[in-house]
Amino acid sequence: MKRIAIIGGGISGLSAAFALEEKRGAGAALDYALFEAADRCGGVLVTQRVDGCLVEAGPDSFLTEKPWATELCRKVGLGEQLIGSNDVDRKTYILVNGKLVVMPDGLMFMVPTKIMPTILSSLFSAGSKLRMAKEWFHPPRKAEGDETVAALVERHYGAELVDRLADPLLSGVYGGDASQLSVRAVLPRFAEMEAQHGSLGRAMLAARRKMANASTSPRPLFTSLKDGMQQLVDALLARLPATAFRPNRIIQSIRPQDGGWMIASQHGSDYFDSVIVATPARNAARILQETNSELASELDGIQYSSSVTLTLGYDQSVRAALPPGFGFLVPKSEGKRMLAATFVHNKFPHRAPDDRALIRCFMGGSRDEEILASPDEEILRTARNELQQIIGIRAEPQFSRVYKWRGAMAQYGVGHLERLERIAKLTQQHPGLALAGNGFRGIGVPDCVRSGAEAANLVASESGSPMQPASTHYSRNPQ
Ligand SMILES: Cc1cc2nc3c(=O)[nH]c(=O)nc-3n(C[C@H](O)[C@H](O)[C@H](O)COP(=O)(O)OP(=O)(O)OC[C@H]3O[C@@H](n4cnc5c(N)ncnc54)[C@H](O)[C@@H]3O)c2cc1C
Repeated sequence: MKRIAIIGGGISGLSAAFALEEKRGAGAALDYALFEAADRCGGVLVTQRVDGCLVEAGPDSFLTEKPWATELCRKVGLGEQLIGSNDVDRKTYILVNGKLVVMPDGLMFMVPTKIMPTILSSLFSAGSKLRMAKEWFHPPRKAEGDETVAALVERHYGAELVDRLADPLLSGVYGGDASQLSVRAVLPRFAEMEAQHGSLGRAMLAARRKMANASTSPRPLFTSLKDGMQQLVDALLARLPATAFRPNRIIQSIRPQDGGWMIASQHGSDYFDSVIVATPARNAARILQETNSELASELDGIQYSSSVTLTLGYDQSVRAALPPGFGFLVPKSEGKRMLAATFVHNKFPHRAPDDRALIRCFMGGSRDEEILASPDEEILRTARNELQQIIGIRAEPQFSRVYKWRGAMAQYGVGHLERLERIAKLTQQHPGLALAGNGFRGIGVPDCVRSGAEAANLVASESGSPMQPASTHYSRNPQ
């Protein structure tokens, strides 16, 4: 009987555990234990019911085009619980000079693909519109190496588009900074499109035509679960044997021993044949320090940012006064602490009764780590002030909830993919070791699900490469 330890009970570790459970169910001779530092599993997936509203503390949904989370939901019997975002009301605003300006129709991620809406939009200056027209004639360009998202976008569309679109979209997605994030790791399609088509606009348009020609009916941009993301955690946990989950175990180190691994926690040591480390990369670095300091140092080099989500519940009068749509994004140049806000009652209508408004604000990110140190009341005060300035809400919220996530969002900096290659090589020196989590090839929930399942397949089969090539990422902006 092969014994496998999984360290970290977030969605990555849980997905690994479930994949092993499926193998066990199919007759594989294996046993596993899931070690989690906290008293609950799920990591940043936390849903609460407050006053008839469904409040997500961490992720509220996942990108539909990435199938792995949806597939997992179906496997654990949640197929009937899957819901799509209310895309008929999808509209996102950008704050420009203190006013909300709607993102023009035809923007694909940040690339304009429709001429008239772009020309008529007040989101861009005349200079930027001219750049957009010229962009159409960009010749193909093979990238020599990695670069930041800001550098690529600025080359095509100029600095204004970085400020008004690229940066706010990425701070909403990654809590990150377009001038730091790697284009090859975060937006690999952009680098490919540039190499193949030159113009991102023409490439996006071609992709859109291809999608339109495919006979499939349009799918919602985001998928979630009726009772929130926690449903997935609960359903996964219910499918694991009761003895498999070991809460309140902070794993301090893992060491190779006698062809297997000695796992040490504050409660002592235990021996396993294989181990999946599914924690944030910097925690993995600590755990692996004694075993391979070079690997630990590479893992430690993966940066993380912190974030704060704040949900406010309001009454009907606020709901009636809000602009239609999913919410807004705030460029850095506006000088606010709020990065984005989602009108939850529009994005997923059944998450609030018809006579309520539910607004979820995002703060923090790599430029404002200090906010984590602020007391909840101060965060609430700041958010309310800024909501008043941006959308004129003066009303007292009926309730509010603040959630702080320290170092939860991996930031894929320039050179991230090369770092992953080095990590893969170093990990291969240790048979029976696999890594999973959001530090590697995608921070979205579907990517984490996939990374956990791949790690489980690897250690169960004891062959193949410890980190499978995979890619593309999720988008969490409220469009
Ligand atoms: C505020 C927020 C909003 C997000 N929104 C979205 C969204 O809308 N859509 C989307 O797709 N993605 C979203 N994401 C990203 C996504 O939710 C995460 O990347 C993903 O859930 C991470 O899962 P994980 O299991 O890899 O890590 P985590 O959830 O961080 O779990 C890691 C677990 O490891 C445990 N651990 C750490 N060290 C040890 C140790 N030494 N011993 C034992 N256990 C340990 C931790 O306690 C934790 O439970 C969001 C993230 C945040 C923070």
